[in-house]
Amino acid sequence: MTTELKPYMDVDSELCKGCQLCLDVCPKSVIAISDKLNSSSYHPAYYIGDGCTGCGLCFYACPEPGAIRVVKP
Ligand code: SF4
Ligand code: SF4
Repeated sequence: MTTELKPYMDVDSELCKGCQLCLDVCPKSVIAISDKLNSSSYHPAYYIGDGCTGCGLCFYACPEPGAIRVVKP
């Protein structure tokens, strides 16, 4: 079992407004838009689960405070 810690991003789907700015800036194209709606009827972004470098560009691009969290172990 590997103990390697990889960077990742996480979206709070209830705070996201689906503007897709994070998708546009991600150099690794590892963010997608959900088919599902959140409780405000937006399609939230989500991390596809692999390939994030922890660069933080999505965090700085997002206009919704707290919607994106980037973790770089
Ligand atoms: S931190 Fe960088 S690589 Fe990771 S999802 Fe955000 S923009 Fe993409
Ligand atoms: S930039 Fe923020 S509000 Fe826009 S889709 Fe990405 S997480 Fe959602």
